Amino acid sequence: KLYNQIQDLKGNIRVYCRVRPFLPGQARSFSSVAGIEERTITIVTPTKYGKDGSKSFTFNKVFGPAATQDEVFSDMQPLIRSVLDGFNVCIFAYGQTGSGKTYTMSGPKALTEESLGVNYRALNDLFNLKAQRKGTIDYDISVQMIEIYNEQKGLAVPDASIVHVTSTSDVVELMNQGQKNRAVGSTAINDRSSRSHSCLTVHVHGRDLTSGTILRGCMHLVDLAGSERVDKSEVVGDRLKEAQYINKSLSALGDVIASLSQKNSHVPYRNSKLTQLLQDSLGGQAKTLMFVHISPEPDATGETISTLKFAERVA
Ligand code: ADP
Ligand code: MG
Repeated sequence: KLYNQIQDLKGNIRVYCRVRPFLPGQARSFSSVAGIEERTITIVTPTKYGKDGSKSFTFNKVFGPAATQDEVFSDMQPLIRSVLDGFNVCIFAYGQTGSGKTYTMSGPKALTEESLGVNYRALNDLFNLKAQRKGTIDYDISVQMIEIYNEQKGLAVPDASIVHVTSTSDVVELMNQGQKNRAVGSTAINDRSSRSHSCLTVHVHGRDLTSGTILRGCMHLVDLAGSERVDKSEVVGDRLKEAQYINKSLSALGDVIASLSQKNSHVPYRNSKLTQLLQDSLGGQAKTLMFVHISPEPDATGETISTLKFAERVA
């Protein structure tokens, strides 16, 4: 029985990888990605990583540069739907700045129907299911947008209130509002957004109309701060502090997920604000998806390898 429980725990953590395409207008160089299979990605590396100068990493799933938003979402759909059955779910986008985290979670700046990200598709899907189950289960869905910027400020939230939502357009409006709030007091919006963790939390309360049973589920959709290592000799003051806080929270997250996947009895949730916030959706019966993002440029190989190593630790 214990063995089954342990297997269950391990089964609740999945790791996906997505490779961004070269961007239009970008001078095309060779890709650092030498091969992609269903579950394995191979990176061309400096020779120290192996005689043939390549290294492979295996995850639950690898999406190549041609993968569409729809394909990516379809794969995550069962996980996302389980929140309506009372499961807690946590989905993270991890990777260096520019690797496609925000594209996956929200979509590109110029949004089209096809390019809508996971956040929109997830909410849309939950509202559709809610409608389908009408008369059987009565659901109440509410969302909250939280930004974590610099650990010591804790939840530096423009508006952390929980908002009841009844349609995807409610959520779109809220997210637009959230983006605007985020920009206030910031000269370089993109820069700031890549240095904070942004989290869309969905709370679900369901009542089975026949049995009266109450279901509660919670889902965190997290666009993490850029994971790139900052050269300490080049930044000072506030910028250095930010880098240290990002580093601290991302390594705390890695430690928590690694200790869950190694079935350690002690899970170090308390080491960062990020892991404290997500505690109820990490471990136990909760389902976690770590979605790591890779830039294809050879220049990025160092960061790519460290991202894949971070992910391999929990895969
Ligand atoms: P991050 O959030 O990790 O800093 P972005 O999501 O902002 O990175 O992506 C950087 C750029 O690459 C953006 O212009 C984005 O629209 C584009 N991009 C990222 N992933 C893809 C993709 N899968 N397909 C097409 N364009 C992408
Ligand atoms: Mg981003």
